[in-house]
Amino acid sequence: MSRLAQGLKLLRWREFRLRPVRCPFCGPSVLVRLRGDDEAAVRCLRCAASTVHLAMGRAICKVMPGLSGRDVCEFSARGPLTAWLRRRAASVACSEYFSDAQSGELRDGVRCEDMQRLSYADESFDLITHTEVLEHVPDDLRAMRECLRVLRPGGVMLFTVPVYAGEVTVERAELDADGAIRHLEPPLHHIDPLRGEGILAFRDYRRDILQRLREAGFVESALLEALPSLPWSNGRPVIFSRKASN
Ligand SMILES: [Zn+2]
Repeated sequence: MSRLAQGLKLLRWREFRLRPVRCPFCGPSVLVRLRGDDEAAVRCLRCAASTVHLAMGRAICKVMPGLSGRDVCEFSARGPLTAWLRRRAASVACSEYFSDAQSGELRDGVRCEDMQRLSYADESFDLITHTEVLEHVPDDLRAMRECLRVLRPGGVMLFTVPVYAGEVTVERAELDADGAIRHLEPPLHHIDPLRGEGILAFRDYRRDILQRLREAGFVESALLEALPSLPWSNGRPVIFSRKASN
């Protein structure tokens, strides 16, 4: 479906709003709200970045302002964040997850990577980014350790997941010994924009995601403050974690 057709499907004229915004990807722009009850309906008018991507772009500019000369790993192969990283960084390793492909395999020219079994060499990247991925990974601790392995000493991982109020993460599902899904809570699916279908959330993260990152071996982890100048947004926090410098 085209971007215009997607937008028209969401549009409610009475809730339609425009605001000037400085987009980290395309500069001075306009933020458009197509309706009031869905944050996915708030976008940069020029590059269509979502509030999640805008928050990520701002976090990257703050944490790693000089991207030139840096090697980046992003777990998505399209969208405004990926396009911007490709323009800025020395190199960007982009990938998607395909359940029927091995890490490192290509599907229609797109590299497959399973975060739990990355095909990248140790200490390959200065920065790892991902948005709304980790809650769909069955073994997130293993995925965090894999990310740590492929980061260089002092390297940074910045990412978003839905972080709910409260302290302790709720596990919604797990895989049994045969790899079958066992539901611990009623199944919750998030829409995957690449495939247009729902993908299962294995957990609802809460604040203890920061401890989980330290358990995986990151020496520092923090929720970066929500960006106050982004209107109509609940302020999706970006999660920062850093690997020890040697
Ligand atoms: Zn933009």
